[in-house]
Amino acid sequence: MLHSPVTARSRLPHVGTTIFSVIGQLAAQHQAINLSQGAPNFPCSEALLRYASEAMQAGHNQYAPMTGLPALREAISAKTEALYGCRYDSEHEVTIMASASEALFCAVNALVHAGDEVIVFEPAFDSYIPMIELQGATPVVIKLAAPNFSIPWDEVAARISPRTRMLILNTPHNPTGTTLSAADATRLQALTEGSDIVILSDEVYEHVVFDGALHHSMSRYPALAARSVVVTSFGKTYHVTGWRVGCCLAPQALMEEIRKVHQFAMFAADTPMQYALARILAEPEHYLGFSAFYQRKRDLLCAALADSPLQLLPSQGSFFMLASFAHLSDERDSEFVQRLITRHGVATIPVSAFYRDGTDQRVIRLSFAKDDATLLAGAARLCEIGAA
Ligand code: GLN
Repeated sequence: MLHSPVTARSRLPHVGTTIFSVIGQLAAQHQAINLSQGAPNFPCSEALLRYASEAMQAGHNQYAPMTGLPALREAISAKTEALYGCRYDSEHEVTIMASASEALFCAVNALVHAGDEVIVFEPAFDSYIPMIELQGATPVVIKLAAPNFSIPWDEVAARISPRTRMLILNTPHNPTGTTLSAADATRLQALTEGSDIVILSDEVYEHVVFDGALHHSMSRYPALAARSVVVTSFGKTYHVTGWRVGCCLAPQALMEEIRKVHQFAMFAADTPMQYALARILAEPEHYLGFSAFYQRKRDLLCAALADSPLQLLPSQGSFFMLASFAHLSDERDSEFVQRLITRHGVATIPVSAFYRDGTDQRVIRLSFAKDDATLLAGAARLCEIGAA
């Protein structure tokens, strides 16, 4: 170990290691069945692997264009128009990023100034608030209440101020599995009309929406699309979260600023992966079948947990469902999760990790982005848990 003579002077003094790493390590240490991270434990399509390998063999191993491979940008533009009716100019309004996380980071970094306010809903994916704080901006946190976790629009209206620069949305929502509706979009449109508010819309689970519902992308609503940065993920859509390739869609004026940051953060996303993804996007059955694929997994996990003492909350989309243990135990959710890992051999995520102030409703998050055997084995263990 080196001894450093300098002080680190943290810019994120209240932040520890992300919960996904902490639980992942604990799960590995105890060889727990892992229902924690929203990352598939099953393989991606053989064709996609072949496309990536062929791209490498063909020599596509140097930097991609800064904005992304044209063929991939064009494929995304065509898909977005086909699905949501919005035509993004692939040259100026689509950028391939080195993960959705990078896209979110660049958008906040490029568009939010010190002193600005950013509205964010909790529970929130754990990167949002630190990204805002790194800008010297103020997170304006609005809580979504269980069990519906719907957006309290009257409170949003009350908390919009002249300093509000951005509002961060996430649909389908991590960790609650809820989705926005057309009524939410209408309300948001009325609230933002005439303002200078940018909507940053995290839509990485756009293709995982259940029970025949529509994904209400900001791209569906012209007035919202005009003020939105939409972020999507190839990792989530093609079972390749480790490839770190995401996408950002925004009107040219916003995208120009986002690209200024992206060019110095990552410069470009992985080249051979972009070739592979451009090819597989020509086969829409992959993403069109995705909701049904994950709905079956959700239903399998629900059925397998029918006899567990946990109280399941409905999931309308994403890789996640919540489960309450409030009627079982007084433990903190982090203690409960720890006990599930160490004594019962099953890993989940405590939902308090998605609140800045650690709000604890005694709810845990289960990921069903797992093969069936893992889901069944994890559920069997959750059926065995007793009161504390
Ligand atoms: N988005 C995934 C989740 O919520 C993975 C996040 C991560 O590991 N950084 O589980």
